[in-house]
Amino acid sequence: MRVSTISNVSTADSSAERSMPRFLWLDLTRKCQLACVHCYNASGPDGTHGTMTRQDWINLLDQAAASGVRSVQLIGGEPTMHPDFTDLVEHALSLRLKVEVFSNMVRLMDTWWELFQREGVSLATSYYSDQSGQHNAMTGRPSHGRTRTNIAKAVQLGIPLRVGIIVGSDQQRAVQARRELEALGVRNVHIDRVRPFGRGAQGSDQDAGNLCGQCGTGKAAIGPTGEVSPCVFSGWLGVGNVRDTPLAAILSGIAMARANDTIRGATKSGQCDPGCEPNAECDPGYPLSDCSPRT
Ligand code: SF4
Repeated sequence: MRVSTISNVSTADSSAERSMPRFLWLDLTRKCQLACVHCYNASGPDGTHGTMTRQDWINLLDQAAASGVRSVQLIGGEPTMHPDFTDLVEHALSLRLKVEVFSNMVRLMDTWWELFQREGVSLATSYYSDQSGQHNAMTGRPSHGRTRTNIAKAVQLGIPLRVGIIVGSDQQRAVQARRELEALGVRNVHIDRVRPFGRGAQGSDQDAGNLCGQCGTGKAAIGPTGEVSPCVFSGWLGVGNVRDTPLAAILSGIAMARANDTIRGATKSGQCDPGCEPNAECDPGYPLSDCSPRT
């Protein structure tokens, strides 16, 4: 992904406290076994883990917890392919952070299931169709059977799990996929859509007008190089790097405020209709909602 930095990280006075996110995406890597046609950050087998070291991520978690962050989502790329994945989950839990692991659930080692069953840990994944051919056409690999098997195992073990069915065409058997998942015992299933970023973009994948408008509100993302952005979809709106600047200074800084202003301006008002879930569209795999501030 291309990342540019909005300069001048400095503390923005009165809004600092209220702007501190409670949720962070830890976007660990661009490496993934799959090569999904819609991948919003173009991850794949040739991706790298970036420049953040294990200690950088540990330091970040410490700062996040001290700043009032309550929960983190480990994502990528495939976060379980990061060599420090289990250490980071353990460390986050030791700081009493809730941890969601957003995985393709293609290859989950036997030793990890105990970790996934720990209090405070949950799983999330994407699914595409009840037919393996349709599913595999989206992921670019023969992944359907393994993901389905691991979904069933997570349910069997009582691990909190949410599944987003990502729809890329009218022909996709999303409704049947939902029924299949519900029959497997998955309680949290939602139908989502391909987001116009990365490989999912038809044209430019850096159009702030395609964001939901809630990015940066109570949340932020940290990428594999340490760059902070308002959300995982807006990595090009870099606002500072945790490898050289404290997290709190970045999150409460002028650059973050400017990035958020840019997003609000591009997405009309950032206002949601009454009754919609305000942050629903910010979360990969999160349920598609009627919340459409961009329109
Ligand atoms: S969408 Fe997820 S599973 Fe698919 S290539 Fe991207 S990171 Fe991997």
